[in-house]
Amino acid sequence: MRNYAEITKRLKHLDVPIELLGTVHDYPIYQIHLVPLIDTPKHVLITGGMHGDEPAGVEAVLQFLERDNTPLLKNFSFLVIPCINPYGYVHNTRETLDGIDINRAFETDNVAEVAIVKKALGQTQFSLTIDFHEDYDATGFYLYEGKRDEKYIGPRFATAAKAVGTLDPEDPGEDAPGLAEGVYKVATSWGTEGLAPYLLHFHSEHVIISETPTVWQLEQRAALHLTILDTALDIISGKEV
Ligand SMILES: [Zn+2]
Repeated sequence: MRNYAEITKRLKHLDVPIELLGTVHDYPIYQIHLVPLIDTPKHVLITGGMHGDEPAGVEAVLQFLERDNTPLLKNFSFLVIPCINPYGYVHNTRETLDGIDINRAFETDNVAEVAIVKKALGQTQFSLTIDFHEDYDATGFYLYEGKRDEKYIGPRFATAAKAVGTLDPEDPGEDAPGLAEGVYKVATSWGTEGLAPYLLHFHSEHVIISETPTVWQLEQRAALHLTILDTALDIISGKEV
């Protein structure tokens, strides 16, 4: 069993207020808004803990919130949901208490965690969304990228990722075309059951699913998630990486 109270404690230590989105299976699900320093920011969504047995995503989100993001707030606003599936996080299960894989449930209206995420999204249109995951079978890192204009930045993700760890040589086999080494396209055949394809269809220009190998140490997995996020933010704000 993992301790969700530790997550709550780290969130309550932040300089920014945390907001309760709802309570599911007796666990609170939180969101955090990082308020931009300009009137017309690009909106970014960062999510972790969709699959409860993938703790590096939650850790990456917490480390993002615990660092100083002031320079980024000149370009961006951030909506952050650190842990979408607290029950799974505590019990180390991919699914919810009800046996639901939340990441296959975005076309349904009767899953509490999905309803909570949709409430947080509201009518917002995002420039970027990133959902942090892990892969138990992978030996290296990979990610999925979806982009409405199809101007993918995949090769730059591959370069940035290699500075932190090796890329997975295996095709993840999700029917997703390769865009670059270790980078696969969010496939239209997935429909909108998963969060990333749902966001790409309804809420976001650009989506990323970041997948770290569970065999790596937690710190390296979290570091790679944040490297991918920072690479995307650099490119969107016009900075070279
Ligand atoms: Zn996952």
